[in-house]
Amino acid sequence: MFSSLSDNLDKTFRNLRGVGKISEKNISDALREIRMSLLEADVEFNVAKEFIANVKEKAMGIEVLKSIKPGEQIVKVFNDELTALLGGDAVPLDLNPPAHILLCGLNGAGKTTTAGKLALRLKKDGRRPLLIACDLYRPAAIEQLQTLAEQVGVPCFAPEAGEKNLVKVAKQALAWAKDQNGTVLIFDTAGRQEIDDKLVEELKELHKFVDPNETLLVADSATGQQAVSVAQHFDEAVGLTGIILTKLDGDARGGAALSMRQVTGKPIKFIGEGEKLDQFGVFHPDRLASRILG
Ligand code: GDP
Repeated sequence: MFSSLSDNLDKTFRNLRGVGKISEKNISDALREIRMSLLEADVEFNVAKEFIANVKEKAMGIEVLKSIKPGEQIVKVFNDELTALLGGDAVPLDLNPPAHILLCGLNGAGKTTTAGKLALRLKKDGRRPLLIACDLYRPAAIEQLQTLAEQVGVPCFAPEAGEKNLVKVAKQALAWAKDQNGTVLIFDTAGRQEIDDKLVEELKELHKFVDPNETLLVADSATGQQAVSVAQHFDEAVGLTGIILTKLDGDARGGAALSMRQVTGKPIKFIGEGEKLDQFGVFHPDRLASRILG
């Protein structure tokens, strides 16, 4: 994960640690390299610029320069700023029962898989999740959710074949959910290859009816800046409460994770790190920062 970024940073910091007495020039050179590494990792330009300015301000501080191990101090400054950039503290879900969680995103981002992963996680946490299929375009997506629900061992609502009215489906699902005595309802919505007006209109209608506690965008980390702009679009349409970033396992760069919070203002709440149902977890900014720094 983020291996090319980690390798580049590692080189820069190794050089910095090797310098006995650190000068402002050493720091400036290192920051230039870090800025390049961030841009190569597909971090949004202004995010990288601001980040470097913050690190510079703190790293140039007298305390850092005068410390016994200035290189180490600068790595610490970088680590702290990276944690802040990733969102600071983990942001929990609003699970006030019966909690409604709406998952949205483009096709292929990992939405349906993530619905299953989230249900498993919530079940392990002692909640009673229910899965609700709301993709009325792809019968295969409904079957996929039903299969996942079976694997996880949670009830799943599937709309009648041929049904095209999303709000009607949601109404039936809510009535069904009452009988199931669930505490968290996870709605898996339809995606498209790209954002289009119809998708947005339908999602808005469903959102209004379901009135979710959480509206989470499922976005593919490996798509970098595209994932960030998708998040901005969905946020304008329905107001996101957070992001689930998938496929971090296949992302060598990390630009989406590093830019997402700053650009959208929305917290990353979970990450997916593989196809298996348990390759999923709460997003902890500090842990990711440490992993990036190796
Ligand atoms: P949807 O169209 O958004 O519902 O996407 P799917 O849930 O069908 O997932 C698309 C593909 O991505 C499937 O092959 C999933 O197994 C895969 N996938 C989902 N999440 C992850 C992840 O975190 N890591 C990896 N490597 N693959 C994932």
